[in-house]
Amino acid sequence: MLIIPLLATISCSQDLKKDYASYADYPVLTDDWIEMDYTPVQTQFSLWAPTADEVQVVIYAQAQGGTPQQMIRLLPAPNGMWKAVADGDYKGLYYVFNVKIDGVWQGDTPGVMAKAVGVNGDRAAIIDLRSTDPEGWESDHRPPLKSFSDIILYEMHHREFSIDTAAHIKNRCKFLALTEQHTCMLDGTKTGLDHLKELGVTHVHLLPSFDFSSVDESIVPSTYNWGYDPKNFNVPEGSYATDPFKPGVRIKEFKEMVMALHQAGIRVVMDVVYNHTAVLKGSVFERTVPGYFYRKDEKGNWGNASGCGNETASEREMVRKFIVESVSYWAKEYHVDGFRFDLMGVHDIATMNAVRKALDAIDPTIFVYGEGWAANPPLLETRKLAMKTNIKQMPRIAAFSDEFRDSLRGEWGDDSKGAFVIGRKGFAEGIRMGVVGGVEHPQLVSDPLGKKLEFWTPEPTQFISYVSCHDDLCLQDRLKSSYRGASEKELVTLEKFAQSIVLTSQGVPFIYSGDEMMRTKKGVSNSYRSPDNVNAIFWKKKAQYRELFDYVKELIAMRKAHPAFRLGTAEQIGSNIQFLKTEDSNVVAYQIAGNIMGERWKNIIVVYNARRDVSTVNIPEGVYTVACGDGLIDWRKGMGTVKGNVVNVAPRSTLILHQ
Ligand code: CA
Repeated sequence: MLIIPLLATISCSQDLKKDYASYADYPVLTDDWIEMDYTPVQTQFSLWAPTADEVQVVIYAQAQGGTPQQMIRLLPAPNGMWKAVADGDYKGLYYVFNVKIDGVWQGDTPGVMAKAVGVNGDRAAIIDLRSTDPEGWESDHRPPLKSFSDIILYEMHHREFSIDTAAHIKNRCKFLALTEQHTCMLDGTKTGLDHLKELGVTHVHLLPSFDFSSVDESIVPSTYNWGYDPKNFNVPEGSYATDPFKPGVRIKEFKEMVMALHQAGIRVVMDVVYNHTAVLKGSVFERTVPGYFYRKDEKGNWGNASGCGNETASEREMVRKFIVESVSYWAKEYHVDGFRFDLMGVHDIATMNAVRKALDAIDPTIFVYGEGWAANPPLLETRKLAMKTNIKQMPRIAAFSDEFRDSLRGEWGDDSKGAFVIGRKGFAEGIRMGVVGGVEHPQLVSDPLGKKLEFWTPEPTQFISYVSCHDDLCLQDRLKSSYRGASEKELVTLEKFAQSIVLTSQGVPFIYSGDEMMRTKKGVSNSYRSPDNVNAIFWKKKAQYRELFDYVKELIAMRKAHPAFRLGTAEQIGSNIQFLKTEDSNVVAYQIAGNIMGERWKNIIVVYNARRDVSTVNIPEGVYTVACGDGLIDWRKGMGTVKGNVVNVAPRSTLILHQ
């Protein structure tokens, strides 16, 4: 390395002191937000720090410890930026920024936009990003996707998905686990990537895979964490890399994972958590531009809409720019195909629309969805928030339907309560709402039995249908806790029933990893840092509950083969779905009929019977082929025929007929 002399020191005069009247007065960067630009002959460092008196970058040979090799003073530049150019080849070195405000150095950070870091993410790394591209990366492409209505999401966590040695995955708990082909159990049951292919999902939704702080990367990681504690938003997590000490490895392996999934025909969704940071004091944001990145109330108390001690302020220009550039970077550099926004309701509508616009410019098939709520009320006017109820103002952005979820499994916050699936009365209208993907429908009422339902989504592709996810109990545990004394056979029946409703409904279906094979988390609802024996997917269950797995797999295949189950627009749903009268409130029946493009089946009848006994339902007179009934499915060949204008539906099951 060439040691260059310090750049001229500028005097820290009063004219540099910047007292802005409000955050809206802070200067805004109009160019791309790049903090380190490497070439073999020079490296440029830049930092947006409009309130700084001085900014320096300190160069190290190590990712942790050691003594500084060099200190470089940055000079003020337009728009609140500070810049310095260091001549020579800095590849392989590490750096931290430090900002002085009112005479106080704020502390080392890798910057807010670090793209490569050393172990545990404390120092940024100088690498040549192009050297992280795996072979064939330039020809990697997103698997085809005609419409968001074709999507089937599968939510998974790296560690729990591949930790079980029975899966015979070599790179257990790593990004590379999802690159391994032909992995299976001793009995031949497919695991890992092959399991995903066999199941037929179109998208994997990866729990946080950016750099988070809770797992120590410097040791062989033995602790589990969901990873909702962001540290460096634009770098992959080190504990999922085979070598977290080499900054390029996590980047390359993440790309290898994306490429392998793409080759398997599966798109990749990242769970992104821009609503808060792991810590407030000492975070990269606070150390760079104190106060700017987070909301506070009038009394100066920090907001806590995230429930994690802080909330970011997406409505401020540079925070919005940060989020937009970050997702754009993952989409371009890593070829990520979708983003799930954690607590999207903490963000503002304008930011989410800016995200959508930026991603549309890259590829309009990139999917965006989020949790349309917050953990606590955000410190921003409700009308501006990206809440589920404001989704009409966010075209082509989807949100999870807690109404459908709760109507299926029981309300949030009381695990002892079940709902439609176990035959508790009062949830049929919520199920019907889910059937139509949350859009307004002439036969649905907004206030069934005094339970207000708001039809918040204009299109079914903005409505995520699910019965379980990583939050709360997994499906089997919830069924057990709400239906005490259920036999194992009953539990399998109920799991099938629940998944059949999700997978035949018109919203975008979402499956929680392992629910297709009777996963249990041993009754732990908030398993964010529970031990592996709680969170792990045990693959022997796939063989043990093969019947359930095959049932879910065939439902997915049927959905993909039959456009009637994914009509895609509110208009199509309004004109093709007709609810049938049922005598019992625990039975929901409907017909999908009309001129549906590409659909070979005519007059499809779907009945969900949540009763503990057989239900008789009136249907339009005719001869029908049975595609699915009594917990069995054979939609390809059919399972016999029924004739007439009434049909018997087995207890706790979905019946699907067609002509
Ligand atoms: Ca980390």
